[in-house]
Amino acid sequence: MKDRRTVELGRLSWKEVAAILPLNPVILIPVGTVEQHGPHMPVNADNMVADFVARRAAEATGAYVIPAINYGVSALFRNFPGTFSVQPETLTAVLRDVCHELVNQGFRRIIFVNNHGGNQTACEQVARELKRDHGLVLGSIYPWVLGYALMRDTYDDAAAVYGHGGEPETSAMLAMFPDDVRLDLMSGRDPNMHGAFKPRRDNTIEIAGQPVGGTLYLDFDELFANGASGDPSVGTAERGQIWIERIVGYAVAFVQHYENVTAGASWARRPNDPQVHNAD
Ligand SMILES: [Zn+2]
Repeated sequence: MKDRRTVELGRLSWKEVAAILPLNPVILIPVGTVEQHGPHMPVNADNMVADFVARRAAEATGAYVIPAINYGVSALFRNFPGTFSVQPETLTAVLRDVCHELVNQGFRRIIFVNNHGGNQTACEQVARELKRDHGLVLGSIYPWVLGYALMRDTYDDAAAVYGHGGEPETSAMLAMFPDDVRLDLMSGRDPNMHGAFKPRRDNTIEIAGQPVGGTLYLDFDELFANGASGDPSVGTAERGQIWIERIVGYAVAFVQHYENVTAGASWARRPNDPQVHNAD
């Protein structure tokens, strides 16, 4: 699809959108949030990375990216300036309406590029409704979590540095948006981070004598005062380049696979497409 003027549907005129409809392209919907990401990373990080990965994946496949949904569910971070959270119902309603508009116009194949955990429930809710009502099978790609999964071998001890506002997120941002990472404001894991609680992960604390953590719905600043649950100090742009190769590589493979396996699916045909006649 190298001959396209752009992969961003929002830069097309309605005439151009009408022209791509018969191609039945896969539509990527970046979904993010505006939330604190440690003292050194921009509050728009989730959105910036969702958009970056979606655009790269579209450029390498036949997919198009629609304008992003940039406000998400980040209630646990709301004590940090610059975090603007919406209610889960708000995000669900917006996702539902946007997806219905796509489906009503004849787009059938949709993948969320959702880059924030608090949005997962809303994405699944809407995907399941579209499955129930239209038979559609939506997909979801989560860049930050792919980073956690695919970057372990680049660290001596991944568990020691992984986390929100830590690694591999800082490396990824240094490679993608170096001007927006404030190394001068960066600090490691906050030493006074948890008072009475011993955090394991963002919502999970140690339970004395038990190998499994327990869930407590604390505000994030009660666990990690500087907003970072990981250690960003080993972050480098070089490691971030590996992040880009691997995570974008995965996203491209995902979209290609989805394009292939859905190409002949009855639910993926647009309402006015001619029926495919089988030989038998
Ligand atoms: Zn997030």
